[in-house]
Amino acid sequence: MIYGLIGKRLGHSFSREIHGRLSSDPYELRELAPSELPGFLRERDFRGINVTIPYKQAVMPHLDVLDESAVRSGAVNTIVNRDGKLYGYNTDFDGFIMLARHASVDFRDAGVVILGAGGAAKAVAAAARSMGAASVRNAVRTPRAEGQLPITDIAAFKDCDILVNATPVGMYPDWQGRLVDLDSFPRLRGVLDCIYNPLWTSLVLDARERGIAADGGLYMLVGQAIKARELFAGETYSGSDVEMEFRHLMRSKRNIVLCGMPSCGKSTVGSELARYTGRRFVDTDEIVALQAGMEIPDIFSREGEAAFRLRETAAIESIAPEQGLVVATGGGAVLSETNCRLLRHNGILILLNRDPELLVPTADRPLSRSREELMALYSRRMPLYAKAADFIISNNGPVEHTVYKLIEYAV
Ligand code: NAP
Repeated sequence: MIYGLIGKRLGHSFSREIHGRLSSDPYELRELAPSELPGFLRERDFRGINVTIPYKQAVMPHLDVLDESAVRSGAVNTIVNRDGKLYGYNTDFDGFIMLARHASVDFRDAGVVILGAGGAAKAVAAAARSMGAASVRNAVRTPRAEGQLPITDIAAFKDCDILVNATPVGMYPDWQGRLVDLDSFPRLRGVLDCIYNPLWTSLVLDARERGIAADGGLYMLVGQAIKARELFAGETYSGSDVEMEFRHLMRSKRNIVLCGMPSCGKSTVGSELARYTGRRFVDTDEIVALQAGMEIPDIFSREGEAAFRLRETAAIESIAPEQGLVVATGGGAVLSETNCRLLRHNGILILLNRDPELLVPTADRPLSRSREELMALYSRRMPLYAKAADFIISNNGPVEHTVYKLIEYAV
């Protein structure tokens, strides 16, 4: 190994992708069992490695020199081999500060509560203090040190201004979980989650729905990786490099979810966009039909609209944890808050707006078989689509024009 990442399970890591864009040096993912860790570090057969769950503390006794960032955080996520000596650093500290700035969460004089007390939590605590937090406490399953309180004692945290999740709760594959109900924190003004898969956890979505500044951990991931690269190769990167890499990764991971009226072009534009960009295209109506073993009009006539909507939510739930998709939703899909929430974990919602006179009633669309039905549906639904959508793109011209606009703004 020249450069790489060690941890117990690395199947969903983005690190190789990020380091692959920063440098042509090989970057390898190496899963290690706990018993293999001491031998791997004794051999020192690498130039630089990143360390992830569950080894950020376990590696520390094996290192020759601990940088101040590692001592301050009580955990190491980057090891550099210089002439056979192993130097340990913590770049999660820097990554978290970059995330806080990116999300416009100001830690000055804030009462901060961190969920968890592991490797990331330690770096977050050190970063919060360095950004001027008035107090930092950890909410944990089992208190083991000063400043740690049981997470069940939620009343003790009600004066919290900023909440940070540094546990894996809410992370893929259990991507809908959350540890706390934000209604317990009346003063909350910022929520940051170290988790980046899904891009936005339930905790982040809960906060945004309450108008609280909130973001997931992707910026932190990119920031810590770039800091690690600086240490590996003695290179220097600027804030705009971090911003550029973040934007690239975010655009490649987030799903482009097309919503809008029946016959507005979601499936046609979506499949063309997927073809142009090499993404996977999914159509939620097709998934519903496949899972039901019958066509949509047959579901409506045999089971009714309510049963169709349940099937639609199940179909959306099955694709929502995936990333990098182009999704065409059924005409009524985003009228359900539940469906929008599911789609927002990894996606942005784009309303494809086609002028009503260009929409076409068809016999196979149960709610828009005639022009009158279609027009009534249009006036009822447009305000709801506009409310659900992150942005609106018109689709009145050739398909390629709409695809180019989507590539420019969203992909
Ligand atoms: P870690 O060292 O294993 O610590 C995990 C912490 O979460 C521990 O305090 C653990 O408590 C707690 N925890 C685990 N499951 C819990 C549950 N069901 N209920 C309550 N607490 C629970 O892991 P880590 O390195 O700190 O990573 C934590 C999370 O941050 C992971 O999701 C990781 O992917 C993410 N992370 C992201 C970045 C980034 O760049 N965005 C960087 C680092 C970490 P116990 O001690 O009681 O087990």
